[in-house]
Formats: sequence, structure tokens, C-alpha cells
Amino acid sequence: MNVRRVGDLGPDERRALFERDAGVDEVRDDVQEIVDRVRKEGDVALREFAEEFDGVTVGNVDITDDAERAVEEIDAATLSAIEDAAENVRAFHEAQLPTDWRDSFEGRELGRRYRPIESAGAYVPGGTAAYPSSALMGVIPAKVAGVEHVAVATPPAEEINPVTLAAIHVAGADVVYQAGGAQAIAALAYGTESVDAVDKVVGPGNRWVTAAKSIVRGDVAIDFLAGPSEIMVVADESADPELVAADLVAQAEHDENASVVAVTDDEELAEAVAAAVDSQADARDREAVIRGALDSAASGVFLARSMSEAVLFAEEYAAEHLSIVAEDDESILDRIPSAGSAFLGPHSAVAAGDYASGPNHVLPTGGHARVTGGLSVDSFLRSTTVQRLSEESLADIESTITTLAEAEGLEAHAESVRKRFDDA
Ligand code: NAD
Repeated sequence: MNVRRVGDLGPDERRALFERDAGVDEVRDDVQEIVDRVRKEGDVALREFAEEFDGVTVGNVDITDDAERAVEEIDAATLSAIEDAAENVRAFHEAQLPTDWRDSFEGRELGRRYRPIESAGAYVPGGTAAYPSSALMGVIPAKVAGVEHVAVATPPAEEINPVTLAAIHVAGADVVYQAGGAQAIAALAYGTESVDAVDKVVGPGNRWVTAAKSIVRGDVAIDFLAGPSEIMVVADESADPELVAADLVAQAEHDENASVVAVTDDEELAEAVAAAVDSQADARDREAVIRGALDSAASGVFLARSMSEAVLFAEEYAAEHLSIVAEDDESILDRIPSAGSAFLGPHSAVAAGDYASGPNHVLPTGGHARVTGGLSVDSFLRSTTVQRLSEESLADIESTITTLAEAEGLEAHAESVRKRFDDA
């Protein structure tokens, strides 16, 4: 990898970094066709796309029983790792559960009530790698929120990875379908003969999955676009280049459309990170995928003139994962509001968050961290505001209401309040 200077970036290079879309736009038309066909033809289309894109003849689309059986099939150490990770993810998400509240605002009793949505569908990826971890991240927050019906869709295969199936079961999914890519998202959104449509579709995936979520979101709720992985490491001279490189290579391993970036004000560190990325990539099993991501115009190692310039660069990038390895990490974090999940200090490996520390790994990509955080218990809750006014507290704001209602030309609104004082 070459080191580029932030100050030398031209408009095209800046666009490739800050308006990155991980190849999603390129597949949008194809995905629209897939979504339309699933909507029209249901299971027939699901089966045809499984043949075409996954090379598999699908029998039953519903594989809920297979997931239950998989728990018995996998080795004890793997099952125990799934259960440990599930426990940490559950504990972190239980801590997020909001409680209903009521308070008095000058005599007006006002509050908020939270109730789960009725059904959700979590996509669990499984194309070029297996994602049991995404099963935990998608299903557990929904169940903690109290969602009654949680469905999972995961790509079909000659033999679906039993660890993924076991994780789906341990996480508490109610029903499991074998369907992958854009066709799975369309099935969860609109339903087919075998798949019940859900109220909200969540979860991560590659560019086909992400394009499909962006298409169905007019008709069904989605979490947000959680596409190919991204990492931004902001480092100062105190960082170990081998560890920075290891986190970049780890996220690059997800997808050739992943985006991996490091920025620092230290030239020696920048050069060392770039060299370490190259040499570590050589040694990895998924070298070809990693090289694809490293070659992306949205990836790179960047040298800033100061840590302030590095911070501005990271904020503009709005990465899914933000790792800060620097003396004053907390003050740097304060100055980067746009990030899906932040990892502070040399021991907070991004892979810890991918699997087991507790926070959710389903996170916004493509700059959406500017406007949203990652998947959480809130993603599965509706909030209702509640108000109870007494005669006195309504009287206190009567003239405010009637004056504004008349200013809007909505005289019946004003009258509906005045009427309550007719006998007074
Ligand atoms: P996937 O399940 O997302 O995609 C596999 C499916 O893609 C296949 O079932 C197939 O239907 C479809 N597909 C493949 N080639 C196609 C083609 N040419 N035309 C139409 N459809 C096609 O699994 P994956 O590919 O391994 O990708 C997982 C993705 O999830 C990675 O990009 C990873 O970075 C991402 N991820 C993101 C987050 C996040 O929160 N942002 C978290 C975890 C993983």
C-alpha cells in the first residue's frame, strides 16, 4: 500500500473516499429485478435464485428444525463460545432497555411508553464466509426488546454451516429460512408461500443485500444500510503499526468491497502500517479478498499534517468502525461524532466487537454513521408519548392553544378546547 497525504487529495479521490458506496449502485438495477420477481413469483423465484447465485437446489425453505438439530452437532468448545458471546451480547442489550416514564410538567402528566414491534426478520450473511456472530447480533436485541416473532434468513448451501445454524437457534430465532442475498430481503419484506412478511428487516450483508434493503425500505421498515465492512483507524506515534495493520487486514477479509483506512500525523508510523498491511495480507487465507479491499479507492493509509487534520478526515469519512490508538483518545473521540462503533486504545481489537465484547456489530456503512448508530434494542421498539391533562393544566395553556389554532385557521381545534370550559 502507498501512503497518501490528506492535503494532496484531489476531488475525485475525496469523492471516492467520502461518497463511497462499496459497489452498491452498480448492482441496483439487477437487484430491482430480483426484488420484483420474488414479489411476483414467491417461492418459485426464491428457488430459481438459489440455483443461480448459490448453486443449490432448495427443498424446504423453512429450516427451523435443522437449526435446532445443529446445536447437537457442533463441538462443545464452539457451542460454548457461541453461548459465551450470546451472554455478553444479551447483557449489553438488556442494559439498553428503556423504561416507561411519566413526569409532571407544570401539572401536565406527560411520558413515554415503549412496546416491541410484532415481527422482525434478521438477515444472517453467509456467502463467502459464515456469520454465526451476525445471528447473535440480529436476533438477541429483538428478543431482548420483546419481539414475539423473529425470523432469520441465511443463504442456502449444500450444507449450511452448522455453527451458523446453532447460533441462530441459541440466539432465540422463532423461524429460520434458507434464502440469501437480495431475494431473502425481498421475501422477508413481502412474504412468499413459505416466508411470512415481517414488520422490519434488519441485518448486514454484501452489496446485493444492501441494495435490496435500500429498495424495499419504501414498503417495510429497515434498520439502516449495513453493507460491506469499513474501518477507520486514527493513530498517533504511540500506536503499534503491526496492530493497526492487523485490524485493517481483519476488516478487509470480509469482502473485496470492504473499505479500510488508517490516518496519522506520524510519517514513520504511516509507512510502517502500509508495509505491515502488505506483509500481513500475504500470510492470510483470504488474501485475494483482502487485496480486493486494499485496492479500493475508498481504502488507504493517509498522512495528515496534524492530529486535528486526521480528526477532520475521520469525521468526514464517518466510518462503521472507528479505532483510536492515541495518547488523548477520549478527546479525539469527542471530536468525531460520526462513527458506528468506537474502539479505544491498543487492546480494543475491532474483532472483539465483531464477536464477543457485547456491543452490536450490525453497523451503518457508506457514511450513514452521520445520521444513525448501529442495531440496538431501540431498533425493535415503538415509543408512544402519553399525556393526561387536568382541568387546571388545560386551562393554563388554553389561550396558547386557541391563539395558535386560530393563527393556523383551524377554528375547530380552538373550539374543541374552549368547549371544555363552557360550564365554567
Ligand atoms: P451475503 O450473505 O451478504 O451474500 C451472499 C448472497 O449474495 C448469496 O446468497 C447470493 O444470493 C448473493 N449474490 C452473490 N453474488 C451475486 C450476484 N452476482 N448477483 C446477485 N446476487 C448475488 O454474504 P457475503 O457475500 O459473505 O457478505 C457478507 C457481507 O456482510 C460482507 O460484505 C461483510 O463485510 C458484511 N458485514 C457487514 C456488517 C455491518 O454491520 N455493516 C457486519 C457483518 C458483515
